[in-house]
Order: sequence, then C-alpha cells, then structure tokens
Amino acid sequence: MAEEKEFKVYNSMSQQKEIFKPLVPGNVSMYVCGITSYDYSHLGHARAAVNFDILYRYLKHLGYEVTYVRNFTDVDDKIIKRANEIGEDPLKLSNRFCEEYIVDMHALQCLIPTHQPRVSDHMEQIKDMISQIIKNGFAYEVDGDVFFAVENFPNYGCLSGQKLEHNRAGERVAVDTRKRHPADFALWKSSKPGEPSWDSPWGPGRPGWHIECSAMSSYYLTSRFDIHGGGIDLIFPHHENEIAQSCAACQESKIGYWMHNGHVTNNNEKMSKSLGNFFTIRQIIERYHPIALRHFLISAHYKSPLNYTFSQLESSSDAIYYIYQTLQDCEAALSSFQEGGVEQNKKGPKVSEAAMNCIKKMREEFDEKMSDDLQTPVVLTGAFQEALKFVNSSLKMLKKKIQKKQLLELLESLAAVEKEVKEILDILGLLSSSAEVLQQLKDKALKRAGMVEDDVLSLIEERTQARINKDFPKSDKIRAELTVKGIALMDVGNETVWRPCIPSEL
Ligand SMILES: [Zn+2]
Repeated sequence: MAEEKEFKVYNSMSQQKEIFKPLVPGNVSMYVCGITSYDYSHLGHARAAVNFDILYRYLKHLGYEVTYVRNFTDVDDKIIKRANEIGEDPLKLSNRFCEEYIVDMHALQCLIPTHQPRVSDHMEQIKDMISQIIKNGFAYEVDGDVFFAVENFPNYGCLSGQKLEHNRAGERVAVDTRKRHPADFALWKSSKPGEPSWDSPWGPGRPGWHIECSAMSSYYLTSRFDIHGGGIDLIFPHHENEIAQSCAACQESKIGYWMHNGHVTNNNEKMSKSLGNFFTIRQIIERYHPIALRHFLISAHYKSPLNYTFSQLESSSDAIYYIYQTLQDCEAALSSFQEGGVEQNKKGPKVSEAAMNCIKKMREEFDEKMSDDLQTPVVLTGAFQEALKFVNSSLKMLKKKIQKKQLLELLESLAAVEKEVKEILDILGLLSSSAEVLQQLKDKALKRAGMVEDDVLSLIEERTQARINKDFPKSDKIRAELTVKGIALMDVGNETVWRPCIPSEL
C-alpha cells in the first residue's frame, strides 16, 4: 500500500497541519456528524457530505481500510416541531427525510458510509453512556432531566477555546434554575406531552442532541478513533460537548484529528431561509447536473468559505462538459480503431514519452496537492488540463494521414492518458458515463434556457437559411441570442451543432 506517503491534515484541535497517522496502521476510523432530518437538505449539507466523501475516497486510494460512520439525528426538537405542525408522526417524518438525503447523496456520487446509525435505534447505548457519566460524577439528575456538569470537566473548551466564564449558552433564554452552571447541557430530557419518549432510569424522555454522537461513535469505532468531522458551526457547542461527554464516560477516550469544513454563502451573504437565498440540493440539481454541483463544491478548499452563485455553477457545468466531451471523443476514437482491426501490438510501439510525461506530471501534481490537506481546487487545473489538451491534440493527429507505427503509438498513449484522467476523476467522485453525462448536461442547459432541443434545431435551420441568403445580421442575431441563453452554436464543416456554454450575460 501507498501508506508511506505523508498525508497532512489540518487538525482543529492543534490548529495546525499534522502528518496523519492512524491509531492502527493501515486502518482508519472516522465519524462525521450527519443531518437532522426534518426537511430537504441544503447546500451546506451537500458541502460537508462531499468534502468528507473526498476524504473517504482519498484515504481508500492511499490504501487504508476505512470505517466511515455518519449519523442521522432522527430525534430532535426541530423534528418534533415540524411533525406537530403538519400532523405527522415525528419518526415517520424524520425517516422520510433520511431517505430523501440518501437520494441526494446518491445523486452527488457520495459513497455510502460503512454505518449510518440513527438515534432512535441506539437508545440503549445512549442511556448506558449517560449512566456511566453520572456514575463517574460528571452529570446530575433533576426532575427526570440529566445535565452534564461542565465545571467538573476542567478541559471544557479545549477545542473551541471557549472559556466557561464567558459562556452564555444558557443565558440567551431564561436560565434554567435547576442547572448548577448556565453552560450545563442536557444529556436526557424528560418527556413532554405530544413528544416521542423512551423509558429510562430517570423516567420517560429522550436524549439531548450531543450525547448521540458520543454514544454512537464509541459504539461503532470504540472510544479511540482517528478522525471526527463536521461543519465548522459544530465546533461549539456540539463537538465541545461531545469531547466532554466521551471523556467523562471513558477516560481513555481520544480522537486523533478534528476536521471541519467551512460555510456556504450566497453572494457573500450567509445562506438563510429568511434572506431567501437558501437552496436545497434538490432545487439545484433540478437545474444543474449533480456532478457539476459536486465540481463546484470542491472548487474551494474545504476549510474556506464557499460562495454560491449561478455563474459558479455555470462555470462548473462548462468545465465538466469539456472533460466529458474530451473523454467521449477519446473513447469513440479508441473503439473505432479497435473495431477497424487496429490491434494494440504488444511488441510494437509503446506509450509515447510525451504521454508518459503527461501522466507522471498529472499523478505527481495530484498526489502533492491532495496529500497537503486535500487541496481540491487545484487538482483539476495545471497538469490535469494539460492532459486533456494532450488528448485533444492527439485526436486531431489521428485524423491526419499517419504511419501505422505512429498510429499505434498514439492509440496506446491516448488509452494510457485516458485511464489516468479517469482514475483522478474517480478519486474525486466525478467519474460517470461520458455519453450519459453529456446528454444530461445538454438536457439541463435546455431546461435553464426554457427550451427543448427541437427549438434549438429549428433555430439552427433558420440560421443556415439566413446564411445561404447572405443575411448575416440575422444569422449572427440567432447565434448571439442563443449564447445569452447558454447555448453555443458551432459550425463543423457544413454542419452546425450545439453545446451548452456559459450564458454570455453572466
Ligand atoms: Zn454530532
């Protein structure tokens, strides 16, 4: 395995990049906080899922056996509130949105985690952990509620840097006078009428939010594991509380690396429902290809803020179109020569030096950037783009009259570069069938333009007629109007074809 390669990750705990070393050589255990399932998931959820999917894929690429756990919070205040509003059973509602999330993850080509535990299936583990925390003297029970006593845990604030005396978490609303300290947080909440509840040593109730991740991570990965991830907004209080709970339950508890992804903004404003700049994954992939959305989501480093605009999605769609057009042309050329009886000659010419260099550079650049805290924004530039150029110029050469030896070398070279390009796309989760992606990108472009393909074809016909009549202002106008809508016309020989493009007014 390629484990010797140094992989550096930014650890939010030490606030610096560290060389990644798993607790058990060759194996990685990681836990990522998932969604609270009461609605369709939005762009922020997509970003976290895609970024940690890239980490998962990259670790596998490095040769690690990875156990990846991502939870569903299916018992929560927001779920209960929404369920009561629409008169649905809370667990039925949350189950529905867990399933919708899985559909979104599939569209975004996120691999399925090893385990996707839900709170409602892990009540025993949660109650056991709370009992242990009480037994160890870090929590107390009042009227059927159980609170974590932050003052008993001296390390409280180690991840977020929050000082207990500055902590106003419990002061925003009226302070619960039953708490010993305003920052004490609920491990168990006694049941209220109209809420789902489970029996417990403290009476019927349900868990507080934070305890589930401590309980489920230790159940699936033990109390010591390698990576804990989530969105940056989870650092406080969620992850701070997780550390407190896990260590209070088990002194040996240890997490190697804390990784957090940045926010998604819209036109540089925070996305929120009230500002009306809030987008669900479902809304976006209605108009843009999910692979283009994924491309956009990795176009910023995972820790940086990511600004969402339509023009960014157009650029990503265009970039994906170019990649897949190149791959499809390459596949078509290779298979037509194969069908034409041009065999790859084992003794004959091998991959050209130019192609070898192209592959070497692409591989080195990819490894260098990815092993440095997953620098995804640059891995599809530089050597990767040069490889696509190499493919396109080789394809042009194939159309010329060339000797058989040169032809064989070109075909070998094309096949080798194509293989490497696809491998990189696969590690980034961007690989799919060329023909399908191109067709789907065209369909989405037509949808955004508010047209069907027949509309474009009849405008092409009209333009051809105008050109025959030498009415160039008219033919130019047709072309320009289509470009504004994101449809480019290209004259290839005597034929005019179309492809999606970035709308000229964007
Ligand atoms: Zn969590």
